[in-house]
Order: sequence, then C-alpha cells, then structure tokens
Amino acid sequence: MRYAYAVCVGSLWIWAACVASVEKTSMNPDLRARAYEIAQKAILVDTHIDVPYRLHEKWEDVSRRTETGDFDYPRAKAGGLKVAFLSIYVPADHEDKGDAKAFAEQMIGYVERLAREHPDKFAIVTSVADVRRRFAEGPILMAMGMENGAPLEGKLENLKYFYERGIRYITLAHSKSNHICDSSYDTNRPWRGLSPFGRQVVAEMNRLGIMVDVSHISDEAFYQVLEVTKAPVIASHSSCRAFTPGWERNLSDDMIRRLAENGGTIQINFGSAFVNDEYRKQSEAARREIQAYLQAHRLSFSDPAAQEYIRQYQREHPIPYADISDVVRCIDHVVQLVGVDHVGLGSDFDGVGDSLPTGLKDVSMYPNLVYELLKRGYSETDIRKILGENLLRVWERVEQVARDLQRATAPVGAGSRHVPTPNRDAL
Ligand SMILES: [Zn+2]
Repeated sequence: MRYAYAVCVGSLWIWAACVASVEKTSMNPDLRARAYEIAQKAILVDTHIDVPYRLHEKWEDVSRRTETGDFDYPRAKAGGLKVAFLSIYVPADHEDKGDAKAFAEQMIGYVERLAREHPDKFAIVTSVADVRRRFAEGPILMAMGMENGAPLEGKLENLKYFYERGIRYITLAHSKSNHICDSSYDTNRPWRGLSPFGRQVVAEMNRLGIMVDVSHISDEAFYQVLEVTKAPVIASHSSCRAFTPGWERNLSDDMIRRLAENGGTIQINFGSAFVNDEYRKQSEAARREIQAYLQAHRLSFSDPAAQEYIRQYQREHPIPYADISDVVRCIDHVVQLVGVDHVGLGSDFDGVGDSLPTGLKDVSMYPNLVYELLKRGYSETDIRKILGENLLRVWERVEQVARDLQRATAPVGAGSRHVPTPNRDAL
C-alpha cells in the first residue's frame, strides 16, 4: 500500500482489497491468442501513467522487471504498450509554495534520465509523426503530459517553455483549484470555471499544439474550455459518471456528448474507485473512519503508529476490487453514447495505489482488455481505435490547428506555401 502513489484520486484513499483473481482457465485460447496479437500490433497508447512521481518517491530501474509498481519495460512490452504518456504530476501545494515550475522540471528530468540511460528501451516522442515512425522499433515511446497547470506560474510564456521541454498535454488543475481553473475535488471555486488567465491558457495551448486535458477540472470549467478551445480536447484519465453518480471527477453523459461533438476523446481510468461505485463508497467511508481515529489520537498520517493502524484497519476491512468488466462497461457506455471514435485508455497505472481492478493490475495486462472487447464483438479496427488511434487522431488534429493558427498570425508573406510543423522556430 503506497498512499503516496495515489495521486489521481485526490481526497479518496486507495485501498488494499481482498483478492479474487481472474479465472484464466475459462478463457478461449484462440481468442486469447488473437487478443495478444492485436495488442502487439496496434499502436497502443496509454495517456496516463504516473511513473515519474513513483520514481520521485523512490528511484527504481524500470528498464528491468520491478517487484513493485505497475510499470516497467518488460511488462510494458508483454502488454503491447507502445506510447506511454508519463505524467509530469505536480502536487497542488506547489502553487502556494511557489516552486511548481521547478518541481515540474525535476519530474521531466526523470523521464529524460530514463531515455538517456536506456536508449534501447525508452525514447521520448513529441509528435504523432514520431510515434508512427518509431512505434515498431522497440523502445517504449514516452510522451509527456503535465498534470496540473500550476507550473505555468501565471506566465503564458511558460507554455512555450514547456512545449519546448516536450509537454504535449496539460491537465489544467489537480486536487485544488489553481490560478487557471477550478478543480472537481475542491469546494473552493474562485473562478466558477476558468479564470481569465485560464481562458488565455487554453487559446495559447491551441496555438502551440498542446492538448487541453479536462480530467480533474470542475464541470463549469469543462464547459468553458469547450467554449474557448479551437481544437479537440482529451480527458486523459476519467471514467463515466453514469456508474459513479454524483462524483464530479468522472464525466457525465452530457459531458461525453459535448466532448464527442468537439472531436475529443475520454481516456478511461482503470482505478476501482473510477469504475465501481460500491468500491468508491466503501473506500470513502473507510477514509472517514480512519481520519476520525487519527484526529482523536492526534496522529499525523505519516506517524508509524498511524501507518500501523491503517494497515490493521485494511486487513480487517478488505474491500473487493473492481473487475476488468467494470472498465469494459465504461468503454461500452461511451460507445453506445457517442460511437467508437471518442474513447481510449488512460489507466492511471502507478497513480491509484493498490486499487486496480482484477485482470488489469499492470501494463502487462492490456491484452486482457482486448480479449474482453473481442468477446463483446468489437472488430479489430474498432479495438485499434480504442487502443490508440482515437488519441492519435486528436493529437494530430491539435497539431494541425496549431499550424493553422500560427500561419494565421504569421507576418504577411511568410509561410504562404510551406506549412511548417509546430517547432521552436515557428513559435
Ligand atoms: Zn490524476
């Protein structure tokens, strides 16, 4: 149980649950082989993996099989993962501390270190052309998404800075409302959506070619982003509110429809709390009970006595994990609502602690998901869309919008014939 890794669920605490393993023996071996083959061939993109923060907590050599964590090179290869959007996660308190940009820089440094130390196993990519050219070469391709806009520190020019550092999506806020917009986890909502600066941020992200990520932000902020943006947006790691009624961190049916109209995609979060309401309610109740105990005994979360109490509490109050079928249910739901072009995978591996569903415990298990989709009658073409093509379409469109906007604002006579790709010269 590593609470520190549970970065994506804000106030929710993640739970060690009682184990029920997937019944592999009932699997159809032919379908199983086909699922594995599809995962290996497809450009499988996962838009949210929290490896950098995991390495920040404790550096591990993820080029080899690690005992802990949800991601490493051998397991990623076994699962068919091609593109991992690694989360440049910046905890909300860094905005008040004033060191958010420096912290983001440190997190980017971990990704660069992986690429530098293991060029045969990890490579950084910054464009769809990079991905299409390199996905079959061997290394796991690492793209970067910044989780929290706090590192912009109120300066639009920092967007250009982070674009040049390789950031290709930004989640506007995390667990607290920030200077860009309100957070779904925060009751304090100073902006009733986007701040005036936040509106400028969305417009400038469009111009630079950085995807806007609407995961974590409040509903009001979501709708305002869609009014402002000229490019499709993503929800990098959110699931369907239809299965977690009232929980703002997931997208409602109306929001999913709006996202589809915008051409965007919802990347389904695998965490048990995101896909199974019973799990979410039980873990929330347990959190309240533990907090009450810690307060009554004047213990802080990190005290050894508190940790011992929590461990014992978990042993005595196990909560059943969600199942892979809960994740597939979310995919089915989006497909039924808006078709197969607007859904993808944003697992939150290494971000939701020990709360992953049975059958989807780490990056080696994407083929299980493909198997479930095949069983439900999805075609290979549709499965490839879900595994990555939908996301690549959005990213490509974001690149195109950026080129168009840059051309529109270029000096008269410049670039009238040749359309440059977004790069530092064109900015
Ligand atoms: Zn998150």
